[in-house]
Amino acid sequence: IADIADEVARLVETAQEGAAALFEPTVRLGVTGLSRAGKTVFITSLVANLLDRGRMPRLRAAAQGRIEAAQLRPQPDRAAPRFDFETHLGALLAPEPRWPESTRAVSQLRLSLRLRPEGWLAGLAGPRVVHLDIVDYPGEWLLDLALLDLSYDDWSERALAEARAPARALHAAPWLARLGAVDPAGPWDEGPARALAEAFAAYLEACRRAGLSGLTPGRFLMPGDLAGSPALTFSPLPRAERRGGLRAEMAKRFEAYKRAVVRPFFRDHFARIDRQVVLVDVLSALGAGPQAVADLRASMTAVLDAFRPGENSWLAPIIGRRVDRILFAAAKADHVHHTQHDRLAALTAELLRRSRERAAFKGARVEAMALASLRATVEQDVRRDGRVLHCVRGRLAATGREAALHPGDLPEDPRRFLDALGAERWPEGDFRAMDFAPPRLRLAPGDGPPHLRLDAAAEFLLGDKLS
Ligand code: GDP
Repeated sequence: IADIADEVARLVETAQEGAAALFEPTVRLGVTGLSRAGKTVFITSLVANLLDRGRMPRLRAAAQGRIEAAQLRPQPDRAAPRFDFETHLGALLAPEPRWPESTRAVSQLRLSLRLRPEGWLAGLAGPRVVHLDIVDYPGEWLLDLALLDLSYDDWSERALAEARAPARALHAAPWLARLGAVDPAGPWDEGPARALAEAFAAYLEACRRAGLSGLTPGRFLMPGDLAGSPALTFSPLPRAERRGGLRAEMAKRFEAYKRAVVRPFFRDHFARIDRQVVLVDVLSALGAGPQAVADLRASMTAVLDAFRPGENSWLAPIIGRRVDRILFAAAKADHVHHTQHDRLAALTAELLRRSRERAAFKGARVEAMALASLRATVEQDVRRDGRVLHCVRGRLAATGREAALHPGDLPEDPRRFLDALGAERWPEGDFRAMDFAPPRLRLAPGDGPPHLRLDAAAEFLLGDKLS
């Protein structure tokens, strides 16, 4: 009886939600990016600024004073973890502010806005409610989409070729050495197989630490709650004449990974997104050198491809052409002087240019922008050797001390600049990536955290839905 009552309650709830959805439209905004790209800070600052209608002059609905109320409400997706907004904002607003804990898995947050309609309708219709469902998820997981159309053999071959490429060979050496010592056609033995899988995971981790990005399988780097499970304990193997127990079990685990890990994520979260922002840490990649930027470009292409699956992909019927606006945002723009912001945006756009020009994207608006979710610096001109350097000044994360730094000039001609991606180092001098501590904030009531162009990003992503 309890079961039936439960089921009835669930049906009623679903029906109520269905009815509400008719009158109260929902926009699902996906927020992604590779680890430490700035997703958590982005969502925290966006929501804080919307809740307080703080500093959002470039969001039209806010500038026109049409947002009558903004409130956090329970999300409809009760099974997904909630984005821990209060804790994250608390960390940023503490007397000794800390950056919040970064994204490690998928989470959601619902922000409901009560809006007065725009223009002549305002006099006729009353206010309406729009629900903004924010879905935060690791970009590493998104890259796994590429695995779905591969067999274990194809994937192994590809992974081995990638590992031997110059940018990765050094990091791959311990794993490749271990691989050389096993017989790919041999029998299954849990101990050595686990050691092999761990060496493979360590190789991916070493690549990440070196600033490289297009690394799959994504859960090896960002396991969520799956750490240590067999679905995450496998490794590519070289081709073999015979198919022994080792190869058969590795292939089964690879298939299990696709079936039990990758597909449910795409079906339950990714396929339901309407608008997407992809945060990219272009400045850190620049600091890590040409190969890191080349890798970043490859992973941005893969991300973009995920939103336009080929006709033969199993995702095509689920996703279709649902996502019609995608923003690639170069985060942490407060690490450079404002005179460099246009160049940062232009470089980000150039990283996307080739994949964007493909016909598949004619229907979607894809834009690039430079922003800072939380501004941690102020600008300062410093005279050195008779030259004026445009610096940014902030507290350094490592020491807590204040410093004015000049990270280097961004390229004037991004297309020419990217032609040099094959090189070991940048031909025209290095770029220094930095790490600032969050600023000590004292916000007046109704004020949101300081940012750069977060409001412009919100206008691009949501403006039409709020009119
Ligand atoms: P996630 O892994 O994508 O969730 O990344 P986070 O949002 O946790 O950001 C990672 C780190 O980047 C933070 O701890 C900060 O050090 C830095 N960061 C993120 N956003 C900003 C920003 O707007 N300005 C500055 N200066 N640093 C930022």
